[in-house]
Amino acid sequence: MNNRKASPFTYFSRTDSPSMPLILVALVTLTLAFAPNETPSKDAPSTPDEAVAAVMAGNARFVNGQSTAHTIETDRAQLASGQAPFAAVIRCADSRVAPEICFDQPLGQLFVCAVAGNVPTLEGIASLEYGVAVLGTKLIVVMGHSECGAVGAAIEHREDTSVLPGSLPGLIDQIVSPCALAVDPSDADALKKATACNAAKSVTQLLKRSNVIKEAVAKGDLRLIAGVQDLGTGVFTLVKK
Ligand SMILES: [Zn+2]
Repeated sequence: MNNRKASPFTYFSRTDSPSMPLILVALVTLTLAFAPNETPSKDAPSTPDEAVAAVMAGNARFVNGQSTAHTIETDRAQLASGQAPFAAVIRCADSRVAPEICFDQPLGQLFVCAVAGNVPTLEGIASLEYGVAVLGTKLIVVMGHSECGAVGAAIEHREDTSVLPGSLPGLIDQIVSPCALAVDPSDADALKKATACNAAKSVTQLLKRSNVIKEAVAKGDLRLIAGVQDLGTGVFTLVKK
């Protein structure tokens, strides 16, 4: 997480005299790093509303097989000198959920935290606060998804999560009390309902547990949205906005 800008003159601030080959390499490197970008420019959203529009438009491109972000050659040298992502995402760790692909955004645009069940743990909240307070993200997206194993486990073991291995009970408990206990396990849509609930409740939790996030929202500098990605269609449906 480095947002510092490297000076283009760093090479020449050394006290020792660089050899001619080193100077040539440095000049070539600087030329490449600061050469005009000939790829189509993607203007970064500058407001929370524009940020929401950008991720939803990206999802529409992804769903329609018209993704563009990953066909553009990335200017890695320029990206390595700093980051200014316009949105932060807290997503499930599920291997089928990839915000950069689902929202069709190039490297450097999304600040992503992954936790099973997209639960806003303390570490996740701290990471999102870094995105908001230091990197200036305009949007936080809570990204749930269909067929979520973590939410499914919360429903299945809602009476007793202690049967789950390792540290999982502590994580799954955070889904059980607000959402798994709110659905009828015999309901065919129980998983769907609990998943939507879990994503929406995460927004409530972020506002409740983080003054950094709450104050940024109050100032109009930040929006929080939550949604669920259908793994089959790719469609990201908002459940809280
Ligand atoms: Zn999941």
